[in-house]
Amino acid sequence: MRPQVIIIGRPNVGKSTLFNRLVGKRLALVDDQPGVTRDRRVGQASIANMEFDVIDTAGWEDEDAASLPGRMRKQTEASLEGADAVLFVIDSRAGVTPLDEEIARYLRTNDVPVVMVANKAEGKEGDSGILETYALGFGEPAPISAEHGEGIAELFEGLWPVI
Ligand code: GDP
Ligand code: MG
Repeated sequence: MRPQVIIIGRPNVGKSTLFNRLVGKRLALVDDQPGVTRDRRVGQASIANMEFDVIDTAGWEDEDAASLPGRMRKQTEASLEGADAVLFVIDSRAGVTPLDEEIARYLRTNDVPVVMVANKAEGKEGDSGILETYALGFGEPAPISAEHGEGIAELFEGLWPVI
């Protein structure tokens, strides 16, 4: 079976854009509105000779903060079932937010290897946000621009040792 790689992160960090970039077809809906992708979407991805299935998720919407931990756990537990690796995406322009920290805490309770991805890293605007991701505890981030197709080599370097 192809390795299963799941994209996780809070709304609007660029998960669906990354999914589309990796899959090469516009299978996931991308929009300026947070939380547009309602379902999990699975696509076939390859970087160089590395082949894997990639899963786009939208389980972390923050419309009702009070019920967030419970819903997070439920939807993410289901998502992580059978996953070989997580691409944990943050928005390097926004920096690390409390919801990112919440997701990080959850991911630390799980055994699935996490590759830290600092998206929106084109230009210099994301530089401090990229550095902030070290505090989340998942090691060196892969700085990428899903929109511009930059940093895919760094993503490969993060992913190939774990899948
Ligand atoms: P999701 O909610 O995490 O799935 O995020 P989306 O993929 O829907 O993207 C949210 C917004 O961020 C959209 O307006 C995208 O165009 C934008 N976006 C995604 N990737 C990048 C990137 O690499 N750079 C910049 N500047 N914007 C991006
Ligand atoms: Mg999405």
